[in-house]
Amino acid sequence: MIKQSTLKPENAAFRETVPAGEYFLKVVKAGQTVRILDLEGNQAADTLFYNAHNPTERYSAVDTIREQGNVYLTAGSKLMSSENNVMLEITSDTCGRHDTLGGACAAESNTTRYALEKKCMHACRDSWLVAVTEHEELGMSKRDITHNINFFMNVPVTADGGLNFADGISDAGKYVELEAKMDVLVMISNCPQLNNPCNGWNPTPIEVLVWS
Ligand SMILES: [Zn+2]
Repeated sequence: MIKQSTLKPENAAFRETVPAGEYFLKVVKAGQTVRILDLEGNQAADTLFYNAHNPTERYSAVDTIREQGNVYLTAGSKLMSSENNVMLEITSDTCGRHDTLGGACAAESNTTRYALEKKCMHACRDSWLVAVTEHEELGMSKRDITHNINFFMNVPVTADGGLNFADGISDAGKYVELEAKMDVLVMISNCPQLNNPCNGWNPTPIEVLVWS
């Protein structure tokens, strides 16, 4: 569902551009709104959410899909935690549909899906591992890296239940906006994938904005 935001970027309390292949890590407080902006179009933002005070409570794709009765995420979707609490709600969305089934790219999936020689290509899972390694204070490790949301990524489910990584439906300037319902740690990998069309074969930067 397409829903425009009324928030103005010039009023944002925080703005950061995240290059492709880099991670973004920030606590967004309950009541704050975070926007992920696809600056140049067709870019996947692989995202994990955690309870900022207890990262063992985290975003759960299965609970979110069950509670809303739909596999796609868009305006109105409530993102559920592994404890079945609402973590965030998507309040605006100019892309229209986001994936939470396809998972994130990893050295392992690049190897099995594409070729053995792709194993050393940078992947989203690597970016998250760098994030938790560089932030020991979080007390997190690779066991905390679980299923995620791929904002802007187009993974249509076929009539017989299959999954495709399809050409994107996002475009330059499209965004998704979420209101935090608890203090959440937002961890994004701006996807560096070059082996499928999730980034239009050309990974590009995103911008993250937060309004208080
Ligand atoms: Zn990726």
